[in-house]
Amino acid sequence: MKLKGGEIYYGVKEILVFLIGQVIKTGYNSPYRIAILTYHDIPLDKNKDVFGVPFENFLFHLSLLGNDSLKSFSILRSIKEFESFFDYLEDRRNFKVKVALSFDDGFKSFLNVMPFINDLRILTFLFITPKFINSSNKYLTWDEVRFLKNAMGDRLIIGSHGLTHKPLHSIGAKDVKEELYSSKSIIEQQLNVEVHFLAYPYGYNVPDFIVEMAYEVGYKYAFTNKYGFVCVGDNKLKLRRIPILKWDTPWTLKQKINGDFNPHLLYSLLKEKQSLHLK
Ligand SMILES: [Zn+2]
Repeated sequence: MKLKGGEIYYGVKEILVFLIGQVIKTGYNSPYRIAILTYHDIPLDKNKDVFGVPFENFLFHLSLLGNDSLKSFSILRSIKEFESFFDYLEDRRNFKVKVALSFDDGFKSFLNVMPFINDLRILTFLFITPKFINSSNKYLTWDEVRFLKNAMGDRLIIGSHGLTHKPLHSIGAKDVKEELYSSKSIIEQQLNVEVHFLAYPYGYNVPDFIVEMAYEVGYKYAFTNKYGFVCVGDNKLKLRRIPILKWDTPWTLKQKINGDFNPHLLYSLLKEKQSLHLK
């Protein structure tokens, strides 16, 4: 994707992605769904990590989400709107796929994008790992998280992403409980908020005992790393999200939201799925 004179030109790569997307339809027929886009770091320059979406690309993504003329979807505005989605209370006659953002790991680069996200007034989840906070200049400090919460108010939901980011499926039950419980209570103490949301670190396959533990510890909602949408009737502690990677353009983003393009299906066909789920 290139930007020339303010217009976006698509190259061979985008056209190939589009053609693959037309072949591999993901089959999400229900229009009643929420797309939670998952980001990690937003580096100012290009990097090698597939999970780092360059700052410039991220701004293109936001301009797509804010562009009214392209709206086959709508922006999720509040946590109340998210919670009522499960209750069948809403008038669904004019329902459009809703979109919200999530950021994992607590990268400091979130500070750079926050003003743009704030302008769009889109519900955003920030999943932080207490061990990473204040640990290096790569990650946010507690003061910065408090600043973000103040600046974004109810549209920023702070959730837990584990205490130390250990893969929960490969540690003992006692350690899992510690990861889930301590992270929640540390965030609550530091920020003076209630923490009801969790994103399982490395959460591609989440065993049932971990889901039950998340419930016991007091989480109301938890996100896995499985590719997909939040749908009515889902287990609220095993919700799916849509990972956004460094090569995603506004075009592929739109395809992902529309359910047209599921790169993970392609990768799993190529038996490479593990390479993209471990974050
Ligand atoms: Zn993570």
